[in-house]
Order: sequence, then structure tokens, then C-alpha cells
Amino acid sequence: MYKNKIVGSLIGLAVGDALGAPYEFKKPSYEVSSHFVEGGAHSISIGEWTDDTSMALCLAQSLIENNGFNAKDQMDKYVSWEEDGYFSTRSQCFDIGNTVARALSTYRRTKEPFSGITGDANSGNGSLMRLAPIVLLYYKDINKLIKYASLSSKTTHKSQLAVDACIYYAQLIAGAVKGYSKEKLLSNEFIDIQDIRKEVLNVINGSYKEDKVYKPTGYVIDTLETALMAFYRFNSFEDGLLHVISLGYDTDTVGAVYGQLAGAFYGYKAIPHKWSLLLMKHDMIYDVAINLYQTEVKETKEHQLKDKIHILVGDITSINADVVVNAANYSLLGSGGGVDGAIHKAGGKEILKECEFLRKHDYPDGLPTGEAVITTAGNMKVKYIIHTVGPQYLYDINPSVHLQSCYKKSFLLAERYKCKSIAFPFIATGAYAYPKKKLLQLLIK
Ligand code: MG
Ligand code: MG
Repeated sequence: MYKNKIVGSLIGLAVGDALGAPYEFKKPSYEVSSHFVEGGAHSISIGEWTDDTSMALCLAQSLIENNGFNAKDQMDKYVSWEEDGYFSTRSQCFDIGNTVARALSTYRRTKEPFSGITGDANSGNGSLMRLAPIVLLYYKDINKLIKYASLSSKTTHKSQLAVDACIYYAQLIAGAVKGYSKEKLLSNEFIDIQDIRKEVLNVINGSYKEDKVYKPTGYVIDTLETALMAFYRFNSFEDGLLHVISLGYDTDTVGAVYGQLAGAFYGYKAIPHKWSLLLMKHDMIYDVAINLYQTEVKETKEHQLKDKIHILVGDITSINADVVVNAANYSLLGSGGGVDGAIHKAGGKEILKECEFLRKHDYPDGLPTGEAVITTAGNMKVKYIIHTVGPQYLYDINPSVHLQSCYKKSFLLAERYKCKSIAFPFIATGAYAYPKKKLLQLLIK
């Protein structure tokens, strides 16, 4: 049963997108064909889908490959879609919302995966349209469902309205996957709606049951309300979908949003063959849905390492840790610029005195590359400083081995001095020119 509903939700999303795409941006004064048609603003081919499905597939693939939620990987996949057409029907991305484009541009610059824009003015439907994969993986666990529905919106849409719409709709789709009746789904009895914004609460309380003109613009509340209206009024996947697409404006997205819920509720087998057969790359989407169904949720590396590794941008001399590592030079006399100079300046003469002692007694010719020594930290907050000498990339015969040794020996010293937290700068990537990307690869190894 679950398989039919899980596949139904993802195929339903794509069918809704493909059926609506040729009518996108139109005013509602056209006849909707009950078959896929061509044309529209993006010169859509028969059965072709757009950004809604591409982003949902990127998200699904990320959940599959990571056995769970990994925001950074999701953003990397969205960027691949935007730049190289990953999971697009064409060789490039041809339809992208402004809010998504801005978030991806911020992500490229900062590497912060939760780059969504805040504020009600940015409450587009771009995170709601791709929501299904989160539900299809976490529908059994309400806490994770709510947490990841919210986080998956925040990568591109941090507006509270967009986030709350995702939290609510995720619960509805999850109920549909579990086989709840329509009455139960729309009764709200199982919905967790703590601290939800009043605009979303208004929809939850039944604004979609009202007899009024529905206008599915790109605003998330309009999309949510219209999709629910059709789900509430009609009794088949097909009738509801044709109705939302007849209403104009953001037709592909309201189709995709309706399709996720209706596909889960009615199941894959209830989606008309005339659509599933002609849906572009149907088999690939079907396979992604099956892979999602078979994905065993494990905590991702990102979460296993949570509280163990933090990557921070800032001044290492003011960090809270037991020990800070100094990217020193062989002289140990604080004569280097960058991190070395800053640490000696912040720690004061105590550090220099200990370094001079080490030079005199243990390393008269200077500290060799790849070695590490420890001193107290003078005026700094931390207990110790570990000084290690990184390789000069252009002159060192084996820079990677030496750099690895810097990290290993620093960890060993920290352990010997019973330090529980250690802060590293990027070693040797400044004047010593070791490529940052290469260092990251080395650290991952
Ligand atoms: Mg679209
Ligand atoms: Mg759209």
C-alpha cells in the first residue's frame, strides 16, 4: 500500500507540473485539455515538467544518497540543476523562481545551506512545490517530519509563512500515505499546529471550503488554499487536477502541489494512464520514488558529527576551546604574519618565552615541517597553543604527507594534554599556498 502511495505522490507531483506548465502565467480564460499539450512561456513539449519536479528530484536523490537529510548536499544538487541541468528535462535549467535563484546565489558565496530569504514578501510557493520527498521518507515519524519539512524549506524559503505551509502540508501528505480518509485528513484532528502563522491557520481551519474565486498566484498561501480546495471538492486525481489548472496563473506549481497530496491519497494506480505513460522520464521518476521507498533512514554524517565538528568563520584568537592550533613557521618566534602573528600578539610574551625555550633545548635548527609542539596560551582564553609547521606547497617534496602529519600530531598532543575541544585554522593555505580544496579533501580522507 505504501509503495503505491509513495510512487503516486512523486509521479502525481510531476504530472501536475507537466499538465499545468503550458498554461503558466495565463489568466483563467482558456479551455484546459485533458491531455498533455505543448507550448506556453517555456515552449513545453508533451509531458514535459519544470523546476517544481527538477527540485523535488534533486531533494529526493539527496535523501537517498545520504540516507537522510543533508542540507548542504541538497543545495549542491540544486546548484547542479541550475548550472548544469541536473534532473532537468533539457540540457540546462530553464525555469527557476526568483527566491530560489537568490538563495542559490547566496549559497555559492557563503556555503551556508540555509540561505533562504526571510520576510512575508518572500513567501513564494517554491519550497512547498518540492516538498513530497521529505514526507515520503519521514511520514512515520511526526517529529522528524515537522523538523525536516521546516528545514527543507529554509534552504531556499525562510519566510515563516512558507515554512508553516510546508509543516502543515507535510502532515497532510503523510496522513494520505498512511491511508487516512479524506474526512480525517481535513478534520485536523491529527495535525500538529503549534505556533503556526494565522494565514496558514486560516487555511487549516477551512478557508478552502469557501465558495469564492481562487487565484493560484506564486504566493504560498494562494497555492496551498487552491490545491486544498480541489482536493476537498473533487473525488478523483484527474478531476481535481484539471480544475486547479483551469484557474490560471501559477498552473504548473499548483498542479504539482495538488498532485503530491492527491497522488499520495488516490495512489499511483489511480493516476490516468494517458498521463503516466506520456510523462517525460516517467521511469526515472518512478525509480527515484522506489529508491526513496527503500531508503533506510540513518542519521547522516552531518548529524553524527553535530556537536563534534563546527566550521566557524572568525577570529581564532577569541575562540572558546581547550586548545588552539597555530600555523607557525619553523622559527617558532611568532615572526610569521597571518594566524601565527595574530596568536603571538593575542597571547603575549608568555608564549614567545616558551617557544624560545623549546628552540634552545629541543629544536635548535627550528621545528621541522609536519611536527607539532605545545605551549601554554598566555593571555588567550584557551588553555594551550599547539604550534605546527605546515608545508610550503610549491617547495615541499611531499606536502600532503607533511600536512597530514601536522593534523595528526596536533590531535595526539591535544589528547595527551586531555583537551576535549581543539580549534584549527586552515594550515598552510595562506602564504604557504596549499590549495584549500585539496586540504578539505585531505581532511575528509
Ligand atoms: Mg515550474
Ligand atoms: Mg510555477
